[in-house]
Amino acid sequence: MTKWKKYEELKPSELEREIRKTPIAYWPLGLIEHHGWHLPIGFDGIKANEFCKILAEKNGGLILPTMWWGGGGGHDVFKWTHYQDLSAAQSILETTSRQMLDYGIKILILFAGHYPWQKLLNNVVGPLRHAYPDALILAGTEMSICEEDSTIVGDHAAKEETSWGLSLFPKQIDISLLDDQADVEVWPPQGPPAKEDEHPKVNYDPTSPLFAQMGEDARKATAEHGDEVIKLVIKKLTETIQRFSQKDST
Ligand SMILES: [Zn+2]
Repeated sequence: MTKWKKYEELKPSELEREIRKTPIAYWPLGLIEHHGWHLPIGFDGIKANEFCKILAEKNGGLILPTMWWGGGGGHDVFKWTHYQDLSAAQSILETTSRQMLDYGIKILILFAGHYPWQKLLNNVVGPLRHAYPDALILAGTEMSICEEDSTIVGDHAAKEETSWGLSLFPKQIDISLLDDQADVEVWPPQGPPAKEDEHPKVNYDPTSPLFAQMGEDARKATAEHGDEVIKLVIKKLTETIQRFSQKDST
């Protein structure tokens, strides 16, 4: 039997019971954007949700439905990207977090798969910690959630992220597509970005296997590398959660 439950599937009495037993909630924060030829457009949310599942398997608690609507990061020049108004995303983040803490959650994990979520987390987490001083609120991306301990590097759809995907949900990754691009339209109706608007580290050449990536070549990604990094983040977060839970129960 799994140690955790999906928040949206529970009835009120079940929620009360679960929160009394294990007052931990995990919220995967993703969005929809082009992630190269080999990764699904929901990569960041799928990554965050799979990561939260491993963490919940160890620590119990409730997983909230993935937050699919975010923005920021400059990949909206690529087709299949849905960026939203950042103030809307921030408002949903803040309101829902407050509600969860009001409803009895003592440990709130806001795990962002998309790096520009960091800015919204920074805006929201300080005031939340101030308003709920007895709660443990851990927030960030895989690079930042362990705070100063973390030595993890991030990228976009390149070696690091692809390694996470190969470790967490290999069935949805297809490395062979990198060298075998289908004849697809890559730009939205407005066409490619102007040269001066290009990010210096992002690949804008649709004929390249590295199209839309930022970072080291995704073909160097391995599940083993992904496992290693994921285990490290899980271990550190679990230590922090358990330390807080023990203190809280004494
Ligand atoms: Zn990503």
